[in-house]
Amino acid sequence: MDKYEAIIGLEIHAELMTKSKMFTGAPVVDSVEAEPNTAVSPLCLGMPGTLPVINKKAVEYALRVALALNCQINQDNIFARKNYFYPDLPKGYQISQYEEPIGVNGWLDVTVNDEMRRIRIRRVHMEEDTGKLTHVDDGTSLVDYNRAGVPLLEIVTEPDIHSGEEARAYAMKIRQILRYLGVNSGDMEKGVLRVEPNISIRPSGSAELGTRTELKNLNSFRVLADGTAYEIERQAKVLDAGDRVVQETRGWNEAKKRTFSQRVKEEAEDYRYFPEPDLPPLYISDEWIAAARAALPELPDAKAARYVNELDLSAYEAQVLAQERAVGEWFDTAVTAGGAPKSIAKWMINELFRLMNEHRQMIDRIQVTPQGLVELIALVDKGTINNNTAKDVLAEMFTSGQSPQEIVEAKGLAQISDEAALATAVTQILDDNPEMVARYLAGENKLRGWFVGQVMKATRGKANPGLVNQLLSQQLAER
Ligand code: ADP
Ligand code: MG
Repeated sequence: MDKYEAIIGLEIHAELMTKSKMFTGAPVVDSVEAEPNTAVSPLCLGMPGTLPVINKKAVEYALRVALALNCQINQDNIFARKNYFYPDLPKGYQISQYEEPIGVNGWLDVTVNDEMRRIRIRRVHMEEDTGKLTHVDDGTSLVDYNRAGVPLLEIVTEPDIHSGEEARAYAMKIRQILRYLGVNSGDMEKGVLRVEPNISIRPSGSAELGTRTELKNLNSFRVLADGTAYEIERQAKVLDAGDRVVQETRGWNEAKKRTFSQRVKEEAEDYRYFPEPDLPPLYISDEWIAAARAALPELPDAKAARYVNELDLSAYEAQVLAQERAVGEWFDTAVTAGGAPKSIAKWMINELFRLMNEHRQMIDRIQVTPQGLVELIALVDKGTINNNTAKDVLAEMFTSGQSPQEIVEAKGLAQISDEAALATAVTQILDDNPEMVARYLAGENKLRGWFVGQVMKATRGKANPGLVNQLLSQQLAER
């Protein structure tokens, strides 16, 4: 299998979550929920006489992404017309960036099988999405222009990826960063993030690129990994048979788990790119770039590294907590509120996430506050409640939104650390069970746990376990 080397470059299209479209005030709406053709303006429909205006927010989002992906920023941005005829594109051309994209020469580090690889990013450019066609069984096709003109970012790598797994890892990381930046929801099933791998193989050691195929309409990361792996194998068989790979666009058949030919790919010249005459060049000032850079959030890798290096979390804990921006920020707030980072991490990962799963809630919707968790941990540390009671209290905080103190008081959950009260409870258990005491004194040491259990039961789980053990030792020794 080392006969060939796989070479893969990824094109990712990400819709930007702006309120309005890229070149017109028509709103950006949820593609699944909105009625078709309700979020359109004359411009999205390609009416004569309409003129585009650049959406500043979309440029700002694009700038954020380009900076987060370590790109050089082109300050002089030119928009271009990409001409082609298709029913989902009423203007007959798509406004895109061609020669002067907003970001060039970036990179992203990706870890696959514990090995870090740097994927170079060739370009990040702004464009507009097309409408959406639905082909119906009776042979008719329906078109929805709600999506036409939605701001779209295209992120293109150099051919630096070498396997389906690596393609998946890179794409997942792009999704994570887009979500961190608040510019894309990452909902692949809604089509707001679309990944297209370009795949070729070449004899190992060769420096020339082989003929590539492009996979389109892959709707999940698993399909990206599987489809890419399949295509690498398929091309190897083609070459082994002495044939040539045809440059084409292929799709993925999920039922048969294989790729199939869709169409022979156009060359770039077919699009007759030329500068968009209705838009002036867009200048991105030094100040704008500096402001966007300063406003970037701490990104997942940096966050995870800080958790390990400054807060002493394990690599696993750091990675889990940095996975989603909202989770990381919840944790950061708890640490700022004065909790020990390690305890907070453990409580979040072991208990809070379990409750979130059980109730199917995201962290930004839960009633437990970071301060609340810190107070709960403090109650355990002070000995007011034991660990098991604290788990129940957290579950109660989760459903009722009450503070831990309120719950502990209302339910009388505070640990019984009153020595006299516990001593009475211990005496009572020993008096009530003379045979057990006799067996214990005859050497059956393991009965000790039974006595502790009886005291816990009598106190409804609230006895301070350390004190119970101490009192048991004293009283059993006296019998
Ligand atoms: P186009 O715009 O026609 O799709 P590009 O040259 O912009 O083509 O390349 C698109 C993507 O394909 C990039 O990610 C690039 O790295 C990748 N790519 C180009 N040539 C090859 C090749 N021979 N094998 C694999 N990937 C390639
Ligand atoms: Mg392409």
